[in-house]
Amino acid sequence: MSAYDPNNIFAKILRGEIPSHKIYEDARTLAFLDIMPRSPGHTLVVPKVEATNLLDIALDDLTYLMSVVRKLAPEIVATLGAEGFMLQQFNGAGAGQTVFHLHMHIVPRWASLPLKPHAGQMEDPQVLAETAEKLRAALAAKGMGNG
Ligand code: AMP
Repeated sequence: MSAYDPNNIFAKILRGEIPSHKIYEDARTLAFLDIMPRSPGHTLVVPKVEATNLLDIALDDLTYLMSVVRKLAPEIVATLGAEGFMLQQFNGAGAGQTVFHLHMHIVPRWASLPLKPHAGQMEDPQVLAETAEKLRAALAAKGMGNG
């Protein structure tokens, strides 16, 4: 698997060079909506350290990343009225990874709603903006806006 490329799209989002539908940020992680969601509220949580995949991050940073995933997932589920959530994480191009900065996918699930394909179709930016706003507000109400 390849070396870290500082010009990958999530590195650019982390540096603020391109926009994202951010829902949460703290000193070590950023969470934003996937622009090609598999379900409503599909969120990506990324560490701020440079890491290509799961094997390329210090355990302490990975543990922290997972603590944020565990903190955000139930709030996303509750806010959107989902019935559960799925985690996804790809390692290597052959495994389906397309952005080479480690990220955890939080995919809200409803039994009656089939999953859309992985990285299949762009969502309407207005829908993403509204969903992000709803999630930011719910997180802020719980004191989870910015760390
Ligand atoms: P993967 O590397 O296979 O985990 O997939 C990368 C994910 O990032 C896919 O689900 C894409 O829809 C998503 N994605 C790609 N570009 C962006 C972007 N600019 N903002 C948010 N999500 C993105």
